[in-house]
Amino acid sequence: MPEDLDPFDIAVKQLKKAADVMKLDKQTFEMLSHPMAILQVSIPVRMDNGETKVFTGFRVHYNNARGPVKGGIRFHPDETLSTVKALAAWMTWKTAITNLPLGGAKGGVICDPKSMSQGELERLSRGYVRAVADFIGPEIDIPAPDVYTTPQIMAWMMDEYETIVRHSAPGVITGKPLESWGSLGRGDATAKGGMYVLREAAKTMNMDLSKAKIAIQGFGNAGQFALKLVTEMFHSKVVAVSDTKGGIYSENGLDYQKLMDHKKKTGTVQNFPGTKNISNEELLELDVDVLIPAAIENQLRSDNANKIKAKIILELANGPTTPDADEIFFKKKILVLPDFLANSGGVTVSYFEWVQNQAGYYWTEKEVYERLDQKMTEATHAVLDAAKKYNVDPRTAAYTVSVKRVADAMKARGWV
Ligand code: NAD
Repeated sequence: MPEDLDPFDIAVKQLKKAADVMKLDKQTFEMLSHPMAILQVSIPVRMDNGETKVFTGFRVHYNNARGPVKGGIRFHPDETLSTVKALAAWMTWKTAITNLPLGGAKGGVICDPKSMSQGELERLSRGYVRAVADFIGPEIDIPAPDVYTTPQIMAWMMDEYETIVRHSAPGVITGKPLESWGSLGRGDATAKGGMYVLREAAKTMNMDLSKAKIAIQGFGNAGQFALKLVTEMFHSKVVAVSDTKGGIYSENGLDYQKLMDHKKKTGTVQNFPGTKNISNEELLELDVDVLIPAAIENQLRSDNANKIKAKIILELANGPTTPDADEIFFKKKILVLPDFLANSGGVTVSYFEWVQNQAGYYWTEKEVYERLDQKMTEATHAVLDAAKKYNVDPRTAAYTVSVKRVADAMKARGWV
């Protein structure tokens, strides 16, 4: 997202673009341009030095017409209410795109988790839950991990919530460790969901993925699993990957396990034997069939969009493409599979975790992946069909699909 723009203004602008395309009525647009509820809390935490520090936290419910709201909790020094509101709006579209019976929410605490001890983090996590306890719950609002929050933090939060309500309630939060009733298949869910989206999109373009060359920017959770899975599932050749230090290129393709060992030993993908070091910019502009941005936002902009040679861009990262670049790609007929479709496998498996918690019955990994495949496949075709119907880029098309689902739910309830 452009840094000079207010994140929530951007979220409303994106909604407006879709609303115009689908001729959404004014009242529904008005209702969808505002979060339903905002809670701001002050959380006193006893620090290790004995002093009490007061942290500010937020929780935003964006829209619950389709069901309990869902979204992560971020621990970040630069957290702002505007960002949390924007992310809560995006969660509303993200849960709707895979047709989950959930709405959108987001939370955040202004803090620097890297400078805090485990004890301080635990007390902050528990304090946050005490402060928002009336605002969350398995049938109200189900948080999850996000930037700098972990499965361990989710387990502390679940424990604190259960202590308050005095009964078991694992469905209050997802992204928990397996021993606290997390779901199998959560670890690689984002990349795996992206693979199903890529498979369906490639089919519509008659692209044979077993012959495809692929470049991946970013080598964290999303990027590493993307390398492993495109190789395993499609036998595609990943010719380049990168991290903050830069990238590597090999026309023969990269070996997942060897590269993981190298990254573990040296801290970077660079200087991997048999490959050539390249810059992140060079990686984006390689002559490949599929480009997978899996790092940070604003990587594909008006200044480099014309140099991109990939035929498909699978956005595992959030916000890697600016609106100007989107327009260029649409004109060049490069298919952009937008972030809130491409990376919605994570929230979909989070939803599966909640379903299992509520039922008290747990699925095998195979069942999780089969159901994920079904959700992602349906969502991809809904988006590609809408892109054809309205003759718009897939991001705008994805918005129209989600917004219609939320608008229909509001109408059925008699809200608008
Ligand atoms: P991560 O922190 O595990 O990895 C990020 C990677 O990006 C690291 O390898 C880092 O070195 C690299 N990176 C950072 N800045 C870079 C730069 N300027 N150029 C090249 N590489 C750079 O994060 P992640 O969980 O893999 O998330 C990556 C993206 O995917 C983010 O945009 C995130 O919001 C999105 N996403 C992730 C998930 C998930 O489940 N992990 C779900 C939805 C969306």
